[in-house]
Amino acid sequence: MSSLSARTEEKKDEGKVLPGGKKIINGIVYDADGKPCRTCNDMSALFAMGKKTKKALPPALPKDCPPDVAQLGRSSWTLLHSVTATYPENPPRELQTETSAFLRTFSKLYPCWVCAEDFQDWMKVNTPRVSSRSEFGQWMCEAHNAVNVKLGKKEFDCNKWEERWRTGWKD
Ligand code: FAD
Repeated sequence: MSSLSARTEEKKDEGKVLPGGKKIINGIVYDADGKPCRTCNDMSALFAMGKKTKKALPPALPKDCPPDVAQLGRSSWTLLHSVTATYPENPPRELQTETSAFLRTFSKLYPCWVCAEDFQDWMKVNTPRVSSRSEFGQWMCEAHNAVNVKLGKKEFDCNKWEERWRTGWKD
């Protein structure tokens, strides 16, 4: 599956220019300035596009290049799940409010705009549950699974989120 979500695929099929001048053509996501959005596409997709101009995908990309959609995603999930892992078991009311505000802002600033729009839509029907570490960790796991499903990946067993992100695997 490409970097694009199901909803995005619909937009792609329409081949329309979206509000703000952003667009998706032949599965490649473009920013408002008309350039391919690096943080919205897989490098392989961008290189496949470059193939037409005789550019080939190098065997390994240098580590200090700007991230593509997958690299950005892995780093972001690491941050988000780690935030839930260190979240208090009984957070004060003020922290709960700040956490919800952080998630709203995060979903607006996420540097892949197609991902950000889908995440905002998902959050509208799946309000963040931040009343305890266990609730928050579970909610984040569900959020990640929604993206996994969208991308055709296997769902993660959310009973295991703490082992993956907090305690480490049981022997
Ligand atoms: P990742 O999905 O990045 O997962 C990293 C690790 O987390 C896995 O190895 C696994 O151990 C663990 N994990 C997996 N699922 C769960 C879970 N449910 N709960 C807890 N731990 C888990 N990419 C797109 O192409 N299109 C999108 O629309 C898109 N939207 C995104 C929205 C957000 C908010 C974020 C943060 C990322 C988004 N991504 C999107 C990136 C995408 O989710 C992946 O990060 C990327 O495809 C790389 O995937 P990966 O297989 O390397 O592992």
